Amino acid sequence: MEFLIDYFSSIPSSHRSAILVGGLAFFWMIESAIPLFRFRYEKWKHAALNIFFTLTTVLVNLSLAFILLLAADWAVGNEFGLFFLMPEMPFWLYLLFGLMIMDLISAWFAHWIQHRVRWMWKFHLIHHTDTHIDTTSANRHHPGESVIRFFFTVLAVLVLGAPMWMVLLYQSLSVVLSQFNHANISLPLWLDRAISWFIISPDMHKVHHHYVLPYTDSNYGNIFSIWDRLFGTFMTLDRDKLIYGVDTHMKEEEHSDVVNLLKIPFQEYRKPTRLE
Ligand SMILES: [Zn+2]
Repeated sequence: MEFLIDYFSSIPSSHRSAILVGGLAFFWMIESAIPLFRFRYEKWKHAALNIFFTLTTVLVNLSLAFILLLAADWAVGNEFGLFFLMPEMPFWLYLLFGLMIMDLISAWFAHWIQHRVRWMWKFHLIHHTDTHIDTTSANRHHPGESVIRFFFTVLAVLVLGAPMWMVLLYQSLSVVLSQFNHANISLPLWLDRAISWFIISPDMHKVHHHYVLPYTDSNYGNIFSIWDRLFGTFMTLDRDKLIYGVDTHMKEEEHSDVVNLLKIPFQEYRKPTRLE
């Protein structure tokens, strides 16, 4: 287990990029083999837009990384955070607990609150405007959302007292698992359901991308599915009923134009429809 600490303590940026690009390429291939939907879309054009937002996410995270590093060093140096209140435990338990709390605060809670607070929703909305969810949708985040998520990651580090290697390990896992649960793939139903007891499965996350409420406000999880089950935000919807997008922005020029997508947070709020 020591190698995990060594490796993620000094993981080169090139390896982090390789994980991102390798994950995209891997799930892209699986999407052609076992697609959930046979979309009639220009896959490369769709990917280009989402990759643009992936790059802005990377840029935001790179330019703010020093804050995260300071927070982790400060917390560990001052023995601040949950880790320092807990009894001695085996390494695997320490790691699992750390990754789960990172996931709860920096992903589940950050996501949940963006669905609750109107100005945050106007940034997060860009992620939901995608009408063709595939593996490239995973990091389709407005730069403003990337900043919001970044500060929740800092919060998670401070609550936990997480060392930097754990943060980098969490982020690497998060990239690949998000690409997995957004991928346009159909696993056998029994397998998808079995997976969804532990981690977010593709079917589970697709419900979150259904175009109307209450489905949009469900399944906020990123890696571990326990948080949605625990907090009562777990929902299911049959695959054949899924319609991707968000009902307030279903017009092509609203969800497929990069300039409009960047401007959405500064446009007037539109109230989403709720099915009863
Ligand atoms: Zn969402």
